[in-house]
Amino acid sequence: MMESRDVVIVGAGASGLMLAARLAEGGQSVTVLEAGPARQLSDLVSSQIWARKLKWSEPAVSESGDHKIGHAFNAGSGTGGSALHHYGVWLRMHEGDFTLQSDHGVGLDWPLSYADLAPHYDRVQTEVGLSGDADQERWRPQGAPYPMPPLPLFAQSRVLARGFEKTGRHTSPLPLAINSEPYEGRRSCQYDGWCDAGCPIGALGNPLVTWLPRARCRRATGAQRHGLSGHP
Ligand code: SF4
Repeated sequence: MMESRDVVIVGAGASGLMLAARLAEGGQSVTVLEAGPARQLSDLVSSQIWARKLKWSEPAVSESGDHKIGHAFNAGSGTGGSALHHYGVWLRMHEGDFTLQSDHGVGLDWPLSYADLAPHYDRVQTEVGLSGDADQERWRPQGAPYPMPPLPLFAQSRVLARGFEKTGRHTSPLPLAINSEPYEGRRSCQYDGWCDAGCPIGALGNPLVTWLPRARCRRATGAQRHGLSGHP
């Protein structure tokens, strides 16, 4: 006989696992269904050939109309989904992005504003762990400072920054979901550039190290492991 659950979530990507964590911490019993392979941090390998396994290798899909597209780099399957492998750039939308129709007569206005989302941006950046410099990022809309200082600029970035400065333009370190220092029990980045393979040391804010442990924490009544078997 099947056990009953309060909630069943389809897809163990960033959204599904974040929801699973929140619900489980709130005392709900949660089952997460995932079609792709179960993964944990120790499954990740810093290899470009291996990294291809994280990405969508199923047939091309239609997002709208009948134009099928292959997702290749920007999608994933298995625990963590596409958020398992990314280069960690977590920019905020600007106030004007929400009012394109009103301001420019194109697209549609959003039914909410940046001010509505700002507290959620603040919360998520502490939960995922963002590095950045809110003061240098002059174009950033109002919000809490990043929880970690920015990652250092390497030689090529410093050259580019000097070039922009000579043309009167300002630059800033990117906001990155990459640990510039140890954060919430996770190690800091060692700058080897394997974010595309998921970051085997856990310095990249992917769902295996952010939401999945919370969904399974002892306090939670537990997100069940259907489709995620093999994890501790
Ligand atoms: S240690 Fe840093 S550079 Fe290397 S994969 Fe992880 S986040 Fe990316």
